[in-house]
Amino acid sequence: MSKIHNFGAGPAKLPEEVYDILKNELTNFDGTGISLLETSHRSPTYFKLNKDVQDVVRRLLNVPDNYKVIFLSGGGQGQFAAVPLNLISRTGTADYVVTGTWSAKAAKEAKKYGKVNLVLPSTDRYVDIPDQSTWNLDPNASYVHICTNETIHGIEFDFIPDTKGVPLVADMSSNFMSKKVDVSKFGVIYGGAQKNIGTAGVALVIVREDLLNQALPICPSILDWTVNSKADSILNTPPMFAIHVMGRVLQWIERLGGLDTMAELANKKSSLIYDIIEQSNGFYYAPVAKNVRSKMNIPFRIGKADEALEKEFLKGAEALNLIQLKGHRDVGGIRASTYNAVTVEEVENLAKYMKEFYKKHAK
Ligand SMILES: *Cc1c(COP(=O)(O)O)cnc(C)c1O
Repeated sequence: MSKIHNFGAGPAKLPEEVYDILKNELTNFDGTGISLLETSHRSPTYFKLNKDVQDVVRRLLNVPDNYKVIFLSGGGQGQFAAVPLNLISRTGTADYVVTGTWSAKAAKEAKKYGKVNLVLPSTDRYVDIPDQSTWNLDPNASYVHICTNETIHGIEFDFIPDTKGVPLVADMSSNFMSKKVDVSKFGVIYGGAQKNIGTAGVALVIVREDLLNQALPICPSILDWTVNSKADSILNTPPMFAIHVMGRVLQWIERLGGLDTMAELANKKSSLIYDIIEQSNGFYYAPVAKNVRSKMNIPFRIGKADEALEKEFLKGAEALNLIQLKGHRDVGGIRASTYNAVTVEEVENLAKYMKEFYKKHAK
């Protein structure tokens, strides 16, 4: 079978080198003669793995010593509940900056546990991040929640908001480890692994220590950051294999040169696609404001949202093994995800196809 180029938004492509490593160690992990899949989570083997993965997270992001690194089940949406359960008790209210589907979902979940203040005027057309001077921040909020990359709408923060001392909480599910981040500017960073750093089943949470010890009494233990950090992320059986895959992906990033390399590649890959869109005289159309266009997820329309033409584009792409390019049903059209594991060469293949399709159909 000829090579498939997977531009899916998640679960997304993993690096080929990582698959080679995983294949080799699947049935004999670390010389133990058994698979990690049947290894005890209370064995020296797993204790070492647990520490190794925490360490590579710390190295890549330069995580300061006063932050805990925790692995939890329940994916990104598990943390939509965990954030208010762990943090809203201080004042009973929280600020949510809603810039797309995912932050809207996070805000909706938080309403179950306290008062939610929507920082931005409500809209159903997400194409921009309003200037911070217009934000309606509540000085009494327990925290301010943002989604640094809206996977569906393709909107990525190009700045870290100034929250005037209120802890900033960020969902980084779809741009985790795509560039350097100053962790000290955040109270909490979290994300599901299956977009940019691994496979489904684990959420990576990085939390500042002074934000622990204030969970609501109803907080389930498996979502309680304090309980889980005390248990070193082995409170119950962790999603060990998903944590291991994340570790292998992060070690791969490190071998390639770390987050500066990932950022450079992301710039290059996303520019390849955005440049074609810009140079197509409106044949391709990216709705998002230029300064906040995502380098991870690139949604665009064809021929003024001509659905028949978009269908033809997707069909032609599939014939060339360029797959999972259909836009999310919330926005329609096309979406190309150019995560860490997607190579420049693969994006060049897509760019070439876009140019040919344009030549053939532009009037
Ligand atoms: C996919 C996604 C989620 C949800 O992740 P699950 O692991 O499926 O719960 C949350 N936030 C963002 C930004 C996402 O892209």
